[in-house]
Amino acid sequence: MTNKEIFLEHLAPTSHQPVLIEVESAMGTILKDVDGKQYYDLIAGVGVVSVGHNNSAIKEAVQKQMDKHSHVMVYGEYIQSSVIALAKNLSDLLPKKLGTSYFVNSGTEANEGAIKLAKRITGRHKIIAFERGYHGNTQGSMSISGNEAKKRGFRPLLPGITFLRFNNIEDLEQITNDIAGVILEPIQGDAGVIIPSGEFMKLLREKCSTTGAQLIFDEVQTGVGRTGKMFAFEHFDVIPDILTLAKGLGGGLPIGAFISSHKNMQLLAENPMLGHITTFGGNPVSCSAANAVLNIVKEKGFMNIVNEKGALFEHLLQHKEIKSIRRQGLMIAVELKNEDKVNKAIELALEQSVIIYWFLSTRNSFRISPPLTITMDEITTSCERLLKVLDNL
Ligand code: PLP
Repeated sequence: MTNKEIFLEHLAPTSHQPVLIEVESAMGTILKDVDGKQYYDLIAGVGVVSVGHNNSAIKEAVQKQMDKHSHVMVYGEYIQSSVIALAKNLSDLLPKKLGTSYFVNSGTEANEGAIKLAKRITGRHKIIAFERGYHGNTQGSMSISGNEAKKRGFRPLLPGITFLRFNNIEDLEQITNDIAGVILEPIQGDAGVIIPSGEFMKLLREKCSTTGAQLIFDEVQTGVGRTGKMFAFEHFDVIPDILTLAKGLGGGLPIGAFISSHKNMQLLAENPMLGHITTFGGNPVSCSAANAVLNIVKEKGFMNIVNEKGALFEHLLQHKEIKSIRRQGLMIAVELKNEDKVNKAIELALEQSVIIYWFLSTRNSFRISPPLTITMDEITTSCERLLKVLDNL
């Protein structure tokens, strides 16, 4: 059997249109297939490979950690140097009220933990989420995600969820003092890079503070430099009560985190204890990779360059087929006239050796979220190719 035949026969599918690049290796922004074809990877494993494929600092950190030990115990029992280093590293980058991290395996688990924590803090159970938000695919995170078509087949899901319109100030009235938590992406990713107003974010913060509802920012996609700031909440000067991270945090190794105050986090250890447990959470190898990522991303000037790179994409991608570009840092949505054009653009881009990708629930735009370490030359060349693609739509 060929590798493709094994893939199709023995690996469960997520759709019947997989991309099917057979990967040989990857370095920086370039992904190479088994036939030697080299692609510009403008997706970075969907916002994951934040400091480039096969990053030498990550590799070194991981190897060093593997030489010491990998998994030794379930989360939260033993003191392991790379795990505590990551917790301290994050607390140094975050406001004091976000000083304590719980490490998990993925974005969806981070959001599960965040919802559970909001329930523990408030003693309430109702959650407010936002239309077109995406928070993951386990049943709790799916319950608070907006895509009705995807949820329909799995009901009943969590009860007590109300959806508000994103960036709609009027709807904030529905945040009342029986709400446990309000969860949102500070910049909606899967909805196609939707940036709310500063006023909306400030009023949202105020409303949560007056009602006691815990404000949860899902920064699984926007966190760790993707938007040109370390965390997207910095764009709005609004600090959540609970923050979730994953994707780019591990730079390619699986890790997520939900983060809150020291006081809040103690609640998971009592009444009853073991409020959230996970075998692999805080895996020391993943934590060593995440430390290497943070050490790169927090370097002085790194964020300015991310913003310059994003601006270069926006400057170069001018074409009559492009209706609009929505962007913050290197989180980019390119809107075309319709879904068919997007499908064709993604297909033709692959022929031109450029990887761009769909959004889950926004069909008229394609996504660009390259490694933050992409070079200006790589941006120029890949945009030249994308313009050729657009000429042929
Ligand atoms: N939250 C946001 C904002 C995301 O973009 C995603 C994934 O795309 C998730 C949560 C789920 O993360 P994971 O796929 O690691 O469970």
